[in-house]
Amino acid sequence: MTKTLRERIAQFAPTRLTFDEGLLSDSHRRALRKIVEASRLMDDIFLRQVSPHNPDRLARLEASRKPEDRDVLRYFRIMAGPWDRLEEHRPFVGDEEKPLGAGFYTPDLSKREFEDWLAHHAEDEEGLASYYTVVRRDLDRLVAVPYSEAYQGFLQPAARLLEEAAEASDSASLSKFLRSRADAFRTNDYFQSDADWVDVKDSLIDATIGPYEVYEDRLMGYEAAFEAIIGIKDPRESEKLEELVQYLPELEANLPSAEDYIPVEREESSPISVVSEVFGAGEAKTGVLAFAFILPNDEKVRQVKGSKKVMLKNVGEAKFRSCLVPAAERLIGEAQLPLLDFETLFDVVLMHELAHGMGPGFVTRSDGSRATVSRALKEHFPVMEEAKADLVGMWSLLHLVDRGVLCRARRARVSYVASLLQTLRFGVDTAHGRAALLELNFLLERGGLLFEKESGKFLIDYDRTREAILGLTRRVLMIQSRGSYEEAREVLDTYGVATPPLERAMAAMEGLPVDIKPLFPIEEMMRDW
Ligand code: ZN
Repeated sequence: MTKTLRERIAQFAPTRLTFDEGLLSDSHRRALRKIVEASRLMDDIFLRQVSPHNPDRLARLEASRKPEDRDVLRYFRIMAGPWDRLEEHRPFVGDEEKPLGAGFYTPDLSKREFEDWLAHHAEDEEGLASYYTVVRRDLDRLVAVPYSEAYQGFLQPAARLLEEAAEASDSASLSKFLRSRADAFRTNDYFQSDADWVDVKDSLIDATIGPYEVYEDRLMGYEAAFEAIIGIKDPRESEKLEELVQYLPELEANLPSAEDYIPVEREESSPISVVSEVFGAGEAKTGVLAFAFILPNDEKVRQVKGSKKVMLKNVGEAKFRSCLVPAAERLIGEAQLPLLDFETLFDVVLMHELAHGMGPGFVTRSDGSRATVSRALKEHFPVMEEAKADLVGMWSLLHLVDRGVLCRARRARVSYVASLLQTLRFGVDTAHGRAALLELNFLLERGGLLFEKESGKFLIDYDRTREAILGLTRRVLMIQSRGSYEEAREVLDTYGVATPPLERAMAAMEGLPVDIKPLFPIEEMMRDW
């Protein structure tokens, strides 16, 4: 059944992303204003990267006096174009198909032709397969046009604004990044600025701006889309995080694993920072929003600099209020619902993120050679890895409660179950969704979770949930440390399936918001700065 426009718009609950304005000095405000202005230009570029016809489409919608076009315009802005990102990019207005290569390639180019060309013109590969070029036709040739040229009209002013922000900023590491990113906008060489970004540590302002993710390029997965995520560091959470990180070796040493394994290589220089997002643009504010991200993607930068993970606390809080709470109200028994709170959920998510860096990283093959767990588990790896992060994260959290480092063990279990249930909304064929099925079915089987048929709600048995988490953590760690593809398949065939209680849960969540549409109060505040 196709959704009406109103129903589609209602999937995104408009939510203000608030932050503590009191943390900002005059110099912060001056720098932020320039950074926000530069970020708005990322919107213009991204719109064109999705489709070169988007600016015309948008202008037509904005000028239209037809009442039905108001809703089209609203959804167009959420999706950055006429295609629905929640429905495999099918058009929600008109019938034009979205090219797989979005606006990054000449529209008539097929994957086959592109690969053929690269196979016969090895000298073109560096340019054509770069993160930072668009591919055009010049008579019978394929040519790479650098972003610095293709989007010059936006990148030149953005570069100037970033330099002005660097001037205003009182953080040396932030200014260094802003200046080198401005250079990158002009020269198309992003290496130095990506490295400088990882080094931004002493700054209250956290600015991520430029071309990053390649999801928008569904043809080849090469071309990076422009975006901006501007945040303010959360001093309290950052302190807590520093404390938690100290326990990682202890947690790793105590993991409930029956066998020895070769651990994930933790990059010492890979920090996590917790920020409140104050402004987002381009891909970062389009469709479903990320709660956390790790950048840069460029392997060459990662090898020398590592990477940095940023968690957007107020985005998580907005999703919690607008999406998770309404879902939990329909699915969690009344006695336990009051135990659901954002502070605890945030600890659960934080431990999930830290747990990605724990556990087995490599397996030893029968011939003695070493392979990554991901190689060994193949297509089952993403699901098993998400399940590991959930389970090791929860196991670690409960361990830290026993040690007196964290509290709220019962609340953590309620948050954990509620967020697993809500994850089912994003599709049980996604890694996160399938992992949630696996964990929920295991909890149901072990009596950690009870399903009440009459009310359609779930009740948590705290002790049995703990035992089930321990049991499944052992199992997942065993599969990862052995690199056993067969055992991964077996456990997913048994538990990673939609069972009647979970099907009812999914049906119960129909019509609730899937995500938020972010509103940025900083835009009003800036008028008084
Ligand atoms: Zn994860």
